[in-house]
Amino acid sequence: MKSFEFANPQSETEALELMNDHPEQTAVLAGGTDLISLLQADIIRPERVVDIKNISSMHDVAEVDDGLMVGALTTLEEVLDNSKLAEYASVAQAADAVHAIQIQSSGTIAGDLCHLPNCWYYRNGYGMLGLENGTSLPETGDNRYHAIFGNSGPAKFVTASRFAPALIAWGAKVRIIGPGPDEAEMLPLEYFYTTPRTERQGTTVLKPGQLVSHIWLPKTAGAVSGNYDVLQTEGLDWPLASASATLKISGGRVSDARIVLGHVAPTPWVSHDAATSLLGKTISEATAQAAGDAAVSRATPLSDNGYKVQLARTAVKRAILRSAGLLEGGL
Ligand SMILES: Cc1cc2nc3c(=O)[nH]c(=O)nc-3n(C[C@H](O)[C@H](O)[C@H](O)COP(=O)(O)OP(=O)(O)OC[C@H]3O[C@@H](n4cnc5c(N)ncnc54)[C@H](O)[C@@H]3O)c2cc1C
Repeated sequence: MKSFEFANPQSETEALELMNDHPEQTAVLAGGTDLISLLQADIIRPERVVDIKNISSMHDVAEVDDGLMVGALTTLEEVLDNSKLAEYASVAQAADAVHAIQIQSSGTIAGDLCHLPNCWYYRNGYGMLGLENGTSLPETGDNRYHAIFGNSGPAKFVTASRFAPALIAWGAKVRIIGPGPDEAEMLPLEYFYTTPRTERQGTTVLKPGQLVSHIWLPKTAGAVSGNYDVLQTEGLDWPLASASATLKISGGRVSDARIVLGHVAPTPWVSHDAATSLLGKTISEATAQAAGDAAVSRATPLSDNGYKVQLARTAVKRAILRSAGLLEGGL
């Protein structure tokens, strides 16, 4: 591991100052459950690591007029324990599905949102696009865990975030601060993620010297939600495919729907096809199945991952049934 300076700011302003001395060479450390591995493997080689854990303003979950402001440093365990978040069932289900109390107690919600890809080519030093002598390894090699949507460009990895589908389905926004000391913006989480076309581009819109300070969730306004992960094992693992649904149901029929898939594309994948197929319908096995079919109708699997199409279809169907309380096995 390359040596680096370690900075321990106590406020958002101090963090931004420390990040903007040399913004291109700074890494943000939250719970460290992933960043430490990336540093140890020399995948990331910053000059300075800015540990944001002691910034108290980023730990709170606070009610605001139009919803909830969740601090970026809220841990997965705190997501599960916080009564204000209990109404957002899909968000709690995403936290619960990480089957390790160590990760739940240290990992943070924004660390999950900014988690870099688990793609084995990336983790073995071939870069985000997995190139060797200009050849795409995910295209020519083993791509069984790679993208089945949004994969026509050079990026074939899948987004690692567990929370992004649930939060996007709820219409969440992220508060991004920096690079200037007074700069802050609220951005719909849906637009936070990017698909890189070159190694220099990242997986989010964050520019050097910026970080996520909070996540805003709108009031639930009676909407219901559900999350469903398809996992290879019961243990500590990322889903092969996941889906999250947030539904408004009036008079027994769906009046609004948001369906978002995870782990199937380089970014969380919003399925307008699935959402549209539900409008005006009652939720049943058949309508949930039709939404699952609609969600995967435009999938473009690679050579080894056709099986993920069925997994994604099932994840969508079960997330919808779960949101309506029609799937056994709640939290
Ligand atoms: C052994 C192991 C097993 C795991 N298993 C699972 C699993 O089964 N399922 C699952 O979903 N997850 C799993 N995880 C991942 C874990 O849930 C996430 O890594 C965790 O939520 C990340 O949070 P963190 O605070 O530790 O992030 P860190 O490791 O501190 O950071 C992760 C990334 O996010 C960036 N970052 C962190 N906070 C911010 C911020 N506020 N603004 C901008 N950038 C930021 C960092 O620079 C880094 O690039 C596992 C991790 C490990 C180490």
